Amino acid sequence: MSKKKTRKKNADQSMFTQVVHTGEKRRKYADSITVPIVQTSSYIFQKTGEIKEFTSRRRLRYEYGRYGNPTEEAAEEKLAHLEGAETCLLFDSGMSALTTTFLALLSSGQHIILTDDSYKQTLNFCTKFLPRFGIEYSVTRMGDYEEMEEAIKDNTRVIFSESPTNPYLNIANLDKLRKLKKKYGVALIIDSTFATPYNQKPLEFGVDLVMHSATKYLGGHNDILAGVLLGKKKMVDKVKEYQFAKGGIIDPHCCYLLLRGLKTFAIRMEKHNESGQIVAEWLEDHPRVRRVYYPGLPSHQHHDIAREQMKGFGGVISFELDGTLGQVNRFLDRLQMIYIAPSFGGVESLIMHPASMSYYQISRKERYALGIIDNLLRLSVGIEHPQDIIADLERGLRAMK
Ligand SMILES: *Cc1c(COP(=O)(O)O)cnc(C)c1O
Repeated sequence: MSKKKTRKKNADQSMFTQVVHTGEKRRKYADSITVPIVQTSSYIFQKTGEIKEFTSRRRLRYEYGRYGNPTEEAAEEKLAHLEGAETCLLFDSGMSALTTTFLALLSSGQHIILTDDSYKQTLNFCTKFLPRFGIEYSVTRMGDYEEMEEAIKDNTRVIFSESPTNPYLNIANLDKLRKLKKKYGVALIIDSTFATPYNQKPLEFGVDLVMHSATKYLGGHNDILAGVLLGKKKMVDKVKEYQFAKGGIIDPHCCYLLLRGLKTFAIRMEKHNESGQIVAEWLEDHPRVRRVYYPGLPSHQHHDIAREQMKGFGGVISFELDGTLGQVNRFLDRLQMIYIAPSFGGVESLIMHPASMSYYQISRKERYALGIIDNLLRLSVGIEHPQDIIADLERGLRAMK
């Protein structure tokens, strides 16, 4: 509904300014500073003349909640601006953004390729549920672009990859993916949740669609679930039409919390990047830590490509402790500040143990095949002072014995 003027006007501003102002009308309801929460399910036509104005497209306005809401639109406008995208569509979760996009773009008899270290539920959806609709899939090894090219068939429509990936923070080579996309005329979709638009702009590398779980850094406060899809209007509108029928709409209050979280997005990311590097380097030097996975470390297998494609490396660090499962548990149980919880990207530091949390349903053998070993931990460095995070980690490491 909003005129797409603000974006051009603010394109040369710093992201630190954009997160505060862009996407928002200068004059808001009741002269409030903040974007109001328009908590309504439907919108009133005062007279029948207004219906005609609306249906003949002479006047842009809202009609029903599933088709749009002013608080949602402000958040979408802000996110489109940050990513440098033509348009943005919000969803009630990251998985909702992904599943709606896949179902909107793929039909029975078509084929999708994704990498083997994709988010667990993304893999689950593609391997377990898409075949029910007659949609085929191939899962190829992350970083093996020859295997990926061999997997491309006449009916392949989508290549999907995350970058960075979970939990080893592998980086997709966006240039190689773009070349495959061009050569075979498929759509290229990147889940950029771990990078955020602060650290990576996949659209600048020729990617078609970018998605995020806004539950993580974009919301940033461990208090909402939301999903984002960004890209060219033609493609996003196709997904939007599908969302109109399927649902998976974000509610206005959640949009407000997302807008509120985004105001500090740039300063939070600056801190996550800075503290992530400090904590990763500290962990790498610690005798009880066997290995650290962080793209900002020269020891990471994709450090060079990460440096080419990314501005910073965020707050997620995976590491292997030098110890038994019992010692890993002693380490976790001794932490006083860092919470044991899934998710990442919020102001509070969180740590998770993939083997006993995300992957407890599968056998040890299957877990090990996925690289989810018993002494692996994933830390999300929050915005606390890095020395306090280190002090807490030190406390846990001492308790391992
Ligand atoms: C969390 C996450 C998702 C799913 O997002 P939800 O908001 O939890 O539905 C998808 N991809 C990645 C990379 C994630 O980290």
